[in-house]
Amino acid sequence: MSALTNCLEATRLISKSQHQKLTLLDGLALNAHLVLCKYCKSFQKDLTYVKVKLSEIDQEEIYLMNESYKKELAKKVLEELEK
Ligand SMILES: [Zn+2]
Repeated sequence: MSALTNCLEATRLISKSQHQKLTLLDGLALNAHLVLCKYCKSFQKDLTYVKVKLSEIDQEEIYLMNESYKKELAKKVLEELEK
């Protein structure tokens, strides 16, 4: 039996794994827990889903920023040409 049998510890590791790479020991302990515990497994799934959704929003914002930057640049080029 793994040392990690505590759901609180497991959810802490799941959250941590979203921001940084877990140590080998933590990763193994977490995976062992996830095999046994469907609640933590679904928590991990939800958290991953939220993370993916957030990264999609960020990318969209970056894309929009780039679009307006491109338009601004095009406007400046046109202004230069009209001089
Ligand atoms: Zn659990």
